[in-house]
Amino acid sequence: MQIKRNILLNPGPSTTTDSVKFAQVVSDICPREKEFQGIMDPMRKDLVRIVHGNDEEHTAVLFCGSGTICIDITLNSLLDEGKKALVINNGAYSQRAVDVLRAYGMPYTELKQPIDKRPDLSALEETLKENPDTGYVYVTHHETGSGLLNPIREIGELAHRYGCFMITDTTSSYAMIPIDLEKDNVDFCMASAQKGIMGMTGLSYVIGKRSIIEKSKDFPVRSYYCNLYMQYDFFERTGEMHFTPPVQTVYAARQALKEYFEEGEEAKWARHQRIMKAIHEGEDRLGLKEALDREVQSGLVSAVRYPEDPAWDFDKVHDYCYERGYTIYPGKLEKKGTFRLCALGAIDEDDIKGFWKVFEEALKETGVQVPVKY
Ligand SMILES: *Cc1c(COP(=O)(O)O)cnc(C)c1O
Repeated sequence: MQIKRNILLNPGPSTTTDSVKFAQVVSDICPREKEFQGIMDPMRKDLVRIVHGNDEEHTAVLFCGSGTICIDITLNSLLDEGKKALVINNGAYSQRAVDVLRAYGMPYTELKQPIDKRPDLSALEETLKENPDTGYVYVTHHETGSGLLNPIREIGELAHRYGCFMITDTTSSYAMIPIDLEKDNVDFCMASAQKGIMGMTGLSYVIGKRSIIEKSKDFPVRSYYCNLYMQYDFFERTGEMHFTPPVQTVYAARQALKEYFEEGEEAKWARHQRIMKAIHEGEDRLGLKEALDREVQSGLVSAVRYPEDPAWDFDKVHDYCYERGYTIYPGKLEKKGTFRLCALGAIDEDDIKGFWKVFEEALKETGVQVPVKY
């Protein structure tokens, strides 16, 4: 069977290999069979291995849901009675964390920071001093809306110095940017199968310290379905998810993990950087400007400012590219007028070169001047 290959430059789901797509086509199976548990157990260990954890100290807990389920779960499950959350808010995804805390009516401190700069760590330290009842510090590693990369190692160091856990949303960096739980001072991170490992949507995971999860058994239970200890405990006792797992997505994730380890951490990160270099080269050639300085970018997302040309029409350019197999994505910045080009997925620099040809045609076709003007 031939499947048309699309180049997704949106921030996930990402382009997948055919072998990952086909891994979903399996005989029907009841996920309560031993055979299925035999897939999830090594998968949990592999997910810990990706961030250089060790299986005694760390564990991966799988959930059926999109990536946001892990934001919800970590925030609501890991805060003890009498403690407050602290969120560094400098983008759309850390704003989502604040929204989750508000939805639960949980106590939190919000440290607002500019969305286009690294956060001020002295402000974080002040906030920690002023709020000695902080239970955990939460930060988005890679703010996918803007492409900003937050310094998790330094943030984690501060969190630990003030006796807090460190939770980071690594949904759009995990299995792409190398992460080391110990060295990076991370107690909990999270991701989703459709991003870094280049699998399918519907499977997400929290990876972190067993000792803290065990402790959280006595923390307030704020959700029936989205509770970290409940799912962890069920996995430890039975090897299964508490409720029905996304069966086909799990098969695809198994294949995706196999391909991850075959490619290797360093080679994969080098490939993502090669893709971003090709993205940046095309921008420079066409005169496109970005919303963020390159030195604060993750290397995985470029937020491109809309050309200030009366003929510019994002939807028309999008449709032209889409019809030719390339998907570009609107921005997620407060002030409108950006679109995003992302270096995720099973693609390489030649795909980006092909994209820029089509994008340039789209500009000319719609009457936008090249090089573009601001
Ligand atoms: C994609 C993403 C998520 C999860 O989004 P879903 O739409 O729920 O999959 C969470 N955090 C970050 C930083 C992301 O990039």
